[in-house]
Amino acid sequence: MKKKLIAGNWKMNGSLAANETLVNGLLAGMGVPACQVALCVPSVYLAQCQGLLAGSTMALGAQDLSQYEIGAFTGEISGAMLQEFGVRYCIVGHSERRQYHFETDALVAAKAQRALACGMTPVVCVGETLAEREAGRTEEVVKRQLAAVIHANGHCISEVVVAYEPVWAIGTGKTASVEQAQQVHAVLRQQLQAASNQAGRIPIIYGGSMNAANSADLLAQPDIDGGLVGGAALKVADFLSIIASAC
Ligand code: PEP
Repeated sequence: MKKKLIAGNWKMNGSLAANETLVNGLLAGMGVPACQVALCVPSVYLAQCQGLLAGSTMALGAQDLSQYEIGAFTGEISGAMLQEFGVRYCIVGHSERRQYHFETDALVAAKAQRALACGMTPVVCVGETLAEREAGRTEEVVKRQLAAVIHANGHCISEVVVAYEPVWAIGTGKTASVEQAQQVHAVLRQQLQAASNQAGRIPIIYGGSMNAANSADLLAQPDIDGGLVGGAALKVADFLSIIASAC
């Protein structure tokens, strides 16, 4: 059985002092977990968090990267730069980037490709809006988003992590029911199986208001291989509890 993956997405939160308290609290409470844990932190804190996580089993993650290798792209951060700080996972295509930065399926696919080229595991986010769900378009939307990444990455698709994050459940306190989440995960699993004979090793994790109270039920579903956790990843007790339910 593959280990579950619990990844915290700090988004644009944190400070030098708050990060130190949070990471030290997690390290003190976590022991050696039977699942994989990662922290996707703002880029300016990578050096600090690399230091705080040194010698631990928690992996360092980033929240985005440029699709370009190097050059005149003011404000962007390259995969090679992230790699220098020991980044193992990089979120691509988070709905907040699709929404506020107009990232397209093709751009997300290119970013996944760049992350892989730099030796990192892209955590590829897919998910429908509330309007799309209500219009009965959930399957079509998530399959279209994932298809772009499969198409661009060929056999390397077996090296990615897929995160199903219904947009209407992110930061809203509304979680997809276990049935809703499992149903979409099964669809994504099938799509991956059709694309790769290594699909069995691709984790499909759930994100969207996962918390200490609902994580155990979500993580018990056959096709839910972990969680991408926003708000609850900023609270030591809550994140530890989610980790415990995955282990
Ligand atoms: C996220 O940002 O990926 C996320 C799932 O956030 P939250 O857990 O706060 O809904």
